[in-house]
Amino acid sequence: MNNLICQHCKKTHPLNEKIWQCTACKGFLKINFKPKFPLNKIKQRKPTLWRYREAIPLDHDKNIVSFAEGFTPLLPITINKKTVFIKQEQLFPTGSFKDRGTTVLMSKIKELGIKQVIEDSSGNAGSSIAAYAAKAGITAHIYVPEHASPGKLVQIQAYSAKLHKIKGSREDTAAVAMKAAEKIFYASHRYNPWFFQGTKTFAFEVTEQLGWKVPDAIILPVGNGSLLLGTYIGFQELLDAHIISKLPKFIAVQAENCSPLYDAFKKNLNTTTKITKKDTLAEGIATADPIRGTELLMIIRETKGTVIIVSEQEIKQAWQDMAKQGYYIEPTSAAGTAGVKKYVSKSKNNEIIVSAFTGHGLKTTSTIQSFFK
Ligand SMILES: *Cc1c(COP(=O)(O)O)cnc(C)c1O
Ligand SMILES: [Zn+2]
Repeated sequence: MNNLICQHCKKTHPLNEKIWQCTACKGFLKINFKPKFPLNKIKQRKPTLWRYREAIPLDHDKNIVSFAEGFTPLLPITINKKTVFIKQEQLFPTGSFKDRGTTVLMSKIKELGIKQVIEDSSGNAGSSIAAYAAKAGITAHIYVPEHASPGKLVQIQAYSAKLHKIKGSREDTAAVAMKAAEKIFYASHRYNPWFFQGTKTFAFEVTEQLGWKVPDAIILPVGNGSLLLGTYIGFQELLDAHIISKLPKFIAVQAENCSPLYDAFKKNLNTTTKITKKDTLAEGIATADPIRGTELLMIIRETKGTVIIVSEQEIKQAWQDMAKQGYYIEPTSAAGTAGVKKYVSKSKNNEIIVSAFTGHGLKTTSTIQSFFK
């Protein structure tokens, strides 16, 4: 039975209802759908994330909003003398992995006949929604904190989205957007379940690129966890389909200056509490209050993973190490790499480790410039 199910009160809703949270209790919605993986067909298709078409619950191909994105290279990179596979998610059309979620979310929005959406973000999710809305002919209202990277703000406006700059913190921006979402459909990478139907393809691609083998560990920079949560869904689906026989360990990396997940993990708590954060170079993961903290903690514990924190100095060092190897990444992504560096110094030699460069450096020149002063 295909439907939306509330993770909290368990009420079910029709799959194509125009909602993004449970109408009874405001709980998160999960998509109930049985994916299929016809491996022989998949192999012959173009290298985009839409090659897993039978695993994406969209009714009609004509609604696909796509720039032929995905199937990003999985490159072996040496970190601390060990080889780690790093997925080049900075190569997506708008410069971050957010396009993975957005192509599916925006396609569904088009299918539902919705003409206007809102989104709030520190920049990359906003740029992504703005680009795909432009392609689909949908109006996007994007809410951002006024201190977001100028490169990201320009990009959002360039796609002709309506940019709303909000004074105060990322959390203040979220509150204003939430109010606006009472009237306009919320294309949220944090709340909307369709977004995760896109980010889950990260797991499919990694598995296919490793020869339909599951890695031992997935290490990702985590703010709200939209990539980590999607990746978990993806691996779970591959496990249910008997394509893989175990889940990888999920390892989240946070900046020491903003680490609600780490704090809760260390204290053995089942849920995160809102923290007071300090400024960090890793603006893309500067989330003081991850709304899906409970789910994230559950996944990390269930898979015997962990949470790693990295200092500002370690982020900068990791950024420089990668730049020296020819990778121009967003400092947020370098936080992930700094976490990988810490992890491999203690890991077993034969482990297959996968991480990601989540965003491109070109948008964050203003931050990167400060490394050379
Ligand atoms: C959004 C983003 C992240 C973190 O994603 P979450 O969904 O908040 O965990 C990491 N890196 C970059 C470049 C991002 O844009
Ligand atoms: Zn509910």
